[in-house]
Parts: sequence; structure tokens; C-alpha cells
Amino acid sequence: MSPVSRGDRPGFAFAADGLDRAADRRDDEDWLAQAWSTGGRAVAVDPHGRVLATADGSMLVPLDASDLGERPGQRRLGGFLGLLEGSAWFAARVDPSSAPWRTGTAFADLRSLAPLLPAGAASLAAYARALLHWQSRKRYCGVCGAATSLGSAGHKASCSDAGCGTVYFPRTDPAIIVVVTDGPRCLLGRQPSWPERRYSTLAGFVEPGETLEAAVAREVREESGIAVERVCFVASQPWPFPASLMVGFEADAARPAGPVVIGDELADARWFGVRELIDGAASGDLLLPPETSISYHLIAGWCERLGGERPKPGPVLIAPR
Ligand SMILES: [Zn+2]
Repeated sequence: MSPVSRGDRPGFAFAADGLDRAADRRDDEDWLAQAWSTGGRAVAVDPHGRVLATADGSMLVPLDASDLGERPGQRRLGGFLGLLEGSAWFAARVDPSSAPWRTGTAFADLRSLAPLLPAGAASLAAYARALLHWQSRKRYCGVCGAATSLGSAGHKASCSDAGCGTVYFPRTDPAIIVVVTDGPRCLLGRQPSWPERRYSTLAGFVEPGETLEAAVAREVREESGIAVERVCFVASQPWPFPASLMVGFEADAARPAGPVVIGDELADARWFGVRELIDGAASGDLLLPPETSISYHLIAGWCERLGGERPKPGPVLIAPR
């Protein structure tokens, strides 16, 4: 139960570098069994996607072969994640009510843990959560309805019907997230379920057959009535709640920007000046996204360029499952 080292924070959660996914080992059963039984560690995830950590949230509490006693690839020991700092890491699906977990530990939502955990540990846990969620949604074949079996150390689900034999691989749902700017102002929106005063960047899922750039233009138009041009990629963030990849952009509003027309999905959308953002976040009149989110970094990056400082980040909000 030693901590995963802190490493360099990329600025937002779940995007730390450093893990070797060692994909070439996924079909090497002997190597996997050896790696698991000789110091392998597993990130423990419960059926709600919560992760086992110390009660203060500062460290993951990995399980090992003596805790689980299983071989890699079994349903409970869900998959091989990779190599980090000399250890082989796995993902384990566990039932919190089935075992006496060590005192001083607790299962917690990863969004709450993200500000507390070392960056590498948070990223590893996000990977484990995403892989196990995919497996939980691929128990049966979508073509013929037969049960599937896992292979490639949890990275492949194969239909058990010999005549069908469809093979499935883990999926990630791309979503765009964008700070739209118009000279000295930027466009933020508020979802109906959020507290009053909370605003963030616009976002939405990419549709089939759509480019990321087109998704940016469509989502911004649908949610605010604003047309955009010059769409530039900034960064991306895995967001395993349950299976997204947030692809972050900056976009310029086409000029002259028309009036904001609020779409069905938002309670409000409006332009903010840079001082309004910085001063509002400082006074509490405005709640921005938390520092762990890419949305905060899109907003803060723009504020820093125009206003010379980053606004105060907001609290972590956890949507109902
Ligand atoms: Zn099938």
C-alpha cells in the first residue's frame, strides 16, 4: 500500500503521462499470471465506479494477489492496465459488502478524489474505471445476444456463439468542449441542474459521421445561437463518467456575433468579460468549474492571456449517477 508518485500535474485530472500500457503483454497469459502473482497491484473499483482509497483520499489502496487470489482476465480481476514505476497494475471489480476492507479506507467517487490523489494515481484509476465500465456493458453480444467472454487481459470481449463470433473492443465516446471568444469576452453557459451562478464552457457529444470541428460549430449554434469560425484544438481529457473523452477547443465567434439564443439544454448562456470572470470568481458571485476539469483550464487560459491572471476555480460538483 505505497503511494503512486506524484509526477508532473498536467494541469487537469486524469491526463498524467508515465503509464506504459504494455499492450504487447495482453495476450501473454504466462507473463500476466507471473506479473500478478509477484507484486502485481489492482485498482479496486466497486459496481458504482467508486475507487478504493485512503479515507482522506490522498492515496489509492491497491489490492494484490493475497487480497483477490485470482488470475488476470477473470471477470472479477477485470484487466491488465500496464506498467507504472516498476509495478504491473490491474483493475479489479470488487463488492464493498463482500469483504472486510482495511480500516482507514473507503470507496469514493473519482471526481472527488481527483484533487487529492497524485496525478498518476488519478489517471490510473480513471483508466480502471473506464475499462471495467465497458466490460460491464459488454456481457452479451449485441448481434446475437449470446454471452461474451473476455480476452486480451480484459481488453477484448468475444461472442461465445461459434457461428457469430463477433469481437468487441473498449469504446470511448468523444465529446467536444469549447471556450468561444469574441475579442474581450467569452461565452459560457449554465445547465439547469447546476447551482445558480455556476457557469462553464459549452460541450456536447460528437455525432456519428461528424468531424470534431463540425461538432463544435453545431453544439455552439444549438446551445447559444452563435456561429463560430477558427476552431483550434487545445488539449483533451479522459472523462470516464462513464466513457467520455473531452476534446478541448478554442473557437472565435463569427463577426459580428449575433444575439445569444439559449438552446433547450441550457438554463442560460451569455458573454463574460475577463474582469467579470476573475472578480466574480474571487467574490463568489460566479462559480467556475473545478481545477480538475479541462473546462476550467480553457477558461483560465483565456483569462490569463487577456487579464494576466487565472480566476479562482469552483467546487467539485458530482451529478447523480
Ligand atoms: Zn454474437
